[in-house]
Amino acid sequence: MTSKRSHRSNRSGDIADSPKWSCDNTIQQALATAESRCREKGLRFTPVRRKVLELLLQEKKAIGAYEILERLSETGFGSQPPVAYRSLGFLTRHGFAHKIERLNAFVACICPGEKHAPAFMICRLCDSVTEAHSFSLNHVLGSAAEAKGFQIEHSTVEAEGICMTCVEQLRI
Ligand SMILES: [Zn+2]
Ligand SMILES: [Zn+2]
Repeated sequence: MTSKRSHRSNRSGDIADSPKWSCDNTIQQALATAESRCREKGLRFTPVRRKVLELLLQEKKAIGAYEILERLSETGFGSQPPVAYRSLGFLTRHGFAHKIERLNAFVACICPGEKHAPAFMICRLCDSVTEAHSFSLNHVLGSAAEAKGFQIEHSTVEAEGICMTCVEQLRI
């Protein structure tokens, strides 16, 4: 009885402690969410679009279109540049990914489907990109635009600096 219980708790402990499992799980959840959103909106979530989103979700860094193309061809999706560009266009247009202008590269969105003006923090040491939502900044920009009678349709904030992990490593 006792051994049975401990065996069971060990097994669940292994799963919970495995970062790869939880990471894969998050990616699978994000892909499933994207799939259901596409279904709701009548959009086609084709295998190549799904693969490109999966590649973006696997990375902490932003990835360029050329690198995505290389990975697509490695996984048997063909090596025609329009394949990658069209999929990236679809993902950014429908809010599943964002383009980081400064890097000319792409990242998966952390809250697809929600209307938001993202702000990106780009680490100049490790190239990681973190998405945040800059409500106060957008509010400031919104009032400034209102004063000038300007209608904002799209705004992105990109800040360059050093991420927490790199700051901690610098201290060691
Ligand atoms: Zn986003
Ligand atoms: Zn960093």
